Amino acid sequence: MKQILLKNAYIVSMNGKREIFNGGSILIEGNLIKAIGKVDLKLIENDAEIYDVKGKIILPGLINTHVHLSQQLGRGIADDVDLLTWLRERVWPYESSFDYEASLISSTACCAEMIKSGVTTFLEAGGQYVEAMAEAVEKMGLRAGLSKSVMDQGEGLPSTWVKTADQELEAQKELFDKYHNTADGRIKIWFGLRTIFNNSDDLIVRTKKMADELETGIHMHIAEIAAENDFIKETRGNSTVEQLHRLGALGKNLLAVHTVWLTDREIDLFRLYDVKVSHNPAAAMKVVLGFARIPEMLEKGISVSIGTDGAPSNNRMDMMREMYLTSLIHKGRTLNPKSVPAEQVLEMATIHAAKCALLENEIGSLEIGKKADLIILNPNSLHSLPLHDPIANIVYTMSSENVESTICDGKWLMKERNLLVMDEKELIEKVKEKSAEVKERAKINLPNRFPVVDIL
Ligand SMILES: [Zn+2]
Repeated sequence: MKQILLKNAYIVSMNGKREIFNGGSILIEGNLIKAIGKVDLKLIENDAEIYDVKGKIILPGLINTHVHLSQQLGRGIADDVDLLTWLRERVWPYESSFDYEASLISSTACCAEMIKSGVTTFLEAGGQYVEAMAEAVEKMGLRAGLSKSVMDQGEGLPSTWVKTADQELEAQKELFDKYHNTADGRIKIWFGLRTIFNNSDDLIVRTKKMADELETGIHMHIAEIAAENDFIKETRGNSTVEQLHRLGALGKNLLAVHTVWLTDREIDLFRLYDVKVSHNPAAAMKVVLGFARIPEMLEKGISVSIGTDGAPSNNRMDMMREMYLTSLIHKGRTLNPKSVPAEQVLEMATIHAAKCALLENEIGSLEIGKKADLIILNPNSLHSLPLHDPIANIVYTMSSENVESTICDGKWLMKERNLLVMDEKELIEKVKEKSAEVKERAKINLPNRFPVVDIL
């Protein structure tokens, strides 16, 4: 089996003891980590690829727990607008004008951007063409939990999206049977619940039952805006989390995204049922959702991870920047410099996120027997030197530009900034072409912010 030896690195293992191996090596065999730290030379075969990582940092591959692959081509169509305009007038018309090819290009571009920012695993929030997403993930070499955008009710939905609970469940079961554990096990199929605005109680109950039976996860936007809780109280008598509790839908396989508007009791319920959380600081500020009570959740021991959300709501799919923001916004909100320190942010982006992805036995830390998902950071740039405190430096100064190489499932996806899984220049041209075509079809006209003078 193919071996890769990465030697002389500063390895941030994120193992149980959080050991850092200074000057250490990692031996990859096939898709697994065979040895780490001080590697016994006897284990290394003659034809192993030997790669010197001196002066650089190895981290577990980052895990982005909230991504919208099919929104990648919509970056820039919904800036400086409120959430309802964002959703109903921009993103829904845009996404509903997608076809398979647009979805494939969007997904591929999003995967490429993630690889370049050090992500090896992501959880998809739900799109229309899961087949295209799976095709992109298979080709791009990432690990992913994919889900369909699932809606059986709600105002303002594009007509082609209105489905019954039966139709939605059946479609997801078909996707599960076809794609779960494909691409060498890299692709998992999760169940989707878009938001409680768009999901009936019946659908929620049956989704939870099916996800439990099939031992997979559920991805849902929860308590995003204050109006969500108000609306659900009016129509169903409880806040979102209380209603999910009443329906028996809280559980360890539920990934709750955003969770901005939670009460103390609701945070306790998350702890009790081991509900997983995806915190998306940039999107929460840009689309003005508010500040999630992340330090409080972390203090209770809830597994909290980080997500970028989609390109129209961030607009950067850059987990390195997202780690920086995660630490900053909670210091600002709580006026406490110790709030969400750098080491905790790294846990959120790796080992906690692996729990959220229901893959903690396989990824999230660099340990013998785990999957060889890792990244190499090169700190030798003016914006990230000097390296007095490496862990803090990763979170507070580095960006995706410092991600030099990305390995997932034992394969190089990017090596020394070169994307190996696809032709980047060709992809850039496709993104420009297809995004313009979809914008035209969706009839989205953006006002000029400044007068434009065409010089012919
Ligand atoms: Zn989202």
